[in-house]
Amino acid sequence: MRRSLESGWLAPAGPELQAFEAEIAQVARQPHALATSSGTAALHLGFRVLGVQPGDEVWAPSLTFVATVAPAVQMGATPRFLDVDPASWTLDPHLLREELAAAARRGRLPRCVVPADLYGQPADMTAIREACDAWGVPILSDSACSLGAMQHGRPAGHGARLVALSFNGNKIVTAGGGGALLSGDAALIAQARALATQAKEPAVHYQHETTGFNYAMSSLLAAVGRAQLPSLAERVTTRRAIFARYAKALAGLAGLTFMPEPAWAHSSRWLTAMLVDPRAFGTDRETLRRALAEEGIESRPVWKPLHLQPAFRDAPVVGGRVAAALFEEGLCLPSGSGMSPADQARVIGVIRALHRG
Ligand SMILES: *Cc1c(COP(=O)(O)O)cnc(C)c1O
Repeated sequence: MRRSLESGWLAPAGPELQAFEAEIAQVARQPHALATSSGTAALHLGFRVLGVQPGDEVWAPSLTFVATVAPAVQMGATPRFLDVDPASWTLDPHLLREELAAAARRGRLPRCVVPADLYGQPADMTAIREACDAWGVPILSDSACSLGAMQHGRPAGHGARLVALSFNGNKIVTAGGGGALLSGDAALIAQARALATQAKEPAVHYQHETTGFNYAMSSLLAAVGRAQLPSLAERVTTRRAIFARYAKALAGLAGLTFMPEPAWAHSSRWLTAMLVDPRAFGTDRETLRRALAEEGIESRPVWKPLHLQPAFRDAPVVGGRVAAALFEEGLCLPSGSGMSPADQARVIGVIRALHRG
């Protein structure tokens, strides 16, 4: 960061930004990367270069953060929400395959599919690719929360036409804010880069064939990201250890089960998520969450599925019962890389005290 301040390259382009893009591309094993002002901006650019138009459908899992589809909705697209697979809590590839075949029969394939990784758990890109390739539907992977995670031996999101990442303050590696759009397709990233910097044509008077955005990452944030990125593997190890400690201390209690990890996945365990079965545990998720809050411990329900959000009340949904059940019983526990075993023991103590309490 000092390097960036002293060089006088504060914004917008510069050597720190270029170096950060090269380093992100290497970590994500993608040939081309564009650093952006946020993960949401990367998704917006992704929708734009995939040609999303008003009236198009954009398909996403119901169990995700709102930003997975928000930019497409603002562009006039209609989201269609598909249920998640109970074995991964991410987009159900079997359901996707059936629905794509049905959509092809209706003559209305989606403009793109946006699988989303969940709490560090990657979506099954091999199976999703198989379903989408059959109909030539491109994939934009929302891998905003899963940097450092692997699926089928490849980084999260790998195999999608475009991958969006986030370096927001709460993510495993942060730049204090920011994101990235990555691809194997140089032309798509070049197009996104032009759109991210106000779509200026190469002319001294600023010629514009279309309008773009101010979505580039600043050099200062790139320098922060560069300082954090080398510790990614260590951070994943720490998060996985936090998950393992919770699971070891609590999974023996009737009524508590932890987020599964399929054999093909290596989650970053960005957040530890568990399910509270009120009958077996003796207390429901909300009561447990409030008991933790009374001790000054912040936990959070699993994301409310998008098909249950008032903002999307008119959007079509396929299934949704799995996502709804995970929301009903799911709780995310404190999982920050800076958590000590003593901090964790305190959380575990409160949960244990409530068991059948
Ligand atoms: C964090 C996150 C985003 C948004 O990223 P920002 O950088 O905050 O805009 C989108 N999708 C998912 C799944 C996320 O976890």
